[in-house]
Amino acid sequence: MSRIRIPSSPPSLLLLLFVFVSCLTLITARQTRDESSYQKRDFHTLSNEDITKLVNLDPPQWNGVDEGHLGKLLIPRASGSQNNTLVQNYISSVFTNLGWHEEKTPFRGTTPIGDIDFQNLIYTFDPSAPRKIIIAAHFDSKWFPDFPANQFIGATDSAAPVSMILDLAEFLTPLLNQRKGRVDSGRGILKRDFDEEEVAETTIQFVLFDGEEAFRDWTATDSIYGARHLAELWQNTFLPSSHPLNKRRLSPSPSVLNTIDHLVLLDLLGNKHSMIYSYFRETDWLHAKMKSADERLQHEGLVEVEKGEKEWFGDMRMRGGIGDDHLPFLHRGVSIFHVISNPFPKVWHTLADDASALSLPALRRWNRILRVFSCEYLGLGPLSATTSKSPTKKTTDELRINGMHMLPLARTYKTIVE
Ligand SMILES: [Zn+2]
Repeated sequence: MSRIRIPSSPPSLLLLLFVFVSCLTLITARQTRDESSYQKRDFHTLSNEDITKLVNLDPPQWNGVDEGHLGKLLIPRASGSQNNTLVQNYISSVFTNLGWHEEKTPFRGTTPIGDIDFQNLIYTFDPSAPRKIIIAAHFDSKWFPDFPANQFIGATDSAAPVSMILDLAEFLTPLLNQRKGRVDSGRGILKRDFDEEEVAETTIQFVLFDGEEAFRDWTATDSIYGARHLAELWQNTFLPSSHPLNKRRLSPSPSVLNTIDHLVLLDLLGNKHSMIYSYFRETDWLHAKMKSADERLQHEGLVEVEKGEKEWFGDMRMRGGIGDDHLPFLHRGVSIFHVISNPFPKVWHTLADDASALSLPALRRWNRILRVFSCEYLGLGPLSATTSKSPTKKTTDELRINGMHMLPLARTYKTIVE
């Protein structure tokens, strides 16, 4: 469950209108400056040709809403239940087969219905990388005490986002392995403003939260059990002295939280309609990048757009936010991009949030948006081994001095404005 936080009521409608218009004006005026000044990292925009290649890589598009990963996840899976363990085992098996580093954080939490065993699942492609982007979703479903409500599945909440993560991991693994091979052998791609060895210092991590749902009413203590546990755990896990962030002599000592460049949280997705807004000025630019990925996919005819569903990404910069797993991280200074449908799907927290609530075109569209967004964030392209050869490793300076050694590779370019 996720709940909208409503700001306190203004004294009059006129005042509300004034504040609203003023905020909009302010936000519009500052938008350009904010987007560029908050973007602290490169984003490697791909050509339409590369995007077409990427979306046609394995795994193939889904053929049904209850096949594959979704078929394994569309069961009631409240925290502490046997089904919850089954789902954990399934997620674990997918990532283990792909060769990702696995971390589990089991803990016992106190809930209104008694003590429950929770466990977050964390998968990292390169655990030795100094920085990371996290893409996260919750795998538990909401608990209800009585039949038939206790058959609640939560297809959009959040079986579909978890399945999208599994699809994305399968898609990214060969590309990341290829990159690892290049970098490990000193053959990382080097071109103007792109040093693959440097880019590979940002890895990707998938976090699957347990215990997002409240057991009774959504409160600070009855909700986001897994996220609260993990944020606190990471805040108290300090980096070794050899970690690059420690060389910057940050004070207080840097913790695991400092290694998170961005946390992208997916929730309430997979039905026909989505409307995604940006809630944090720090990541307005990431919202714009994901919107751009969707627009380019549409332009190239690579996604099926259902009637009335052309615009999934709203331009309005929202204030406040929606209660969800990101909060304990946000409150500790982590940069958040909250990808959640607003308003919530009509089926939210009802038995109707089952396979029938999902749309195959929408799921496929999300999978492709996430492919493009992740690749552009990580600087990955559809490169084959034949396009990335360099006889001997050169330093960036050598390559910049001697243009003859520049490699005519990925159509990536620097968009950062620092
Ligand atoms: Zn929910």
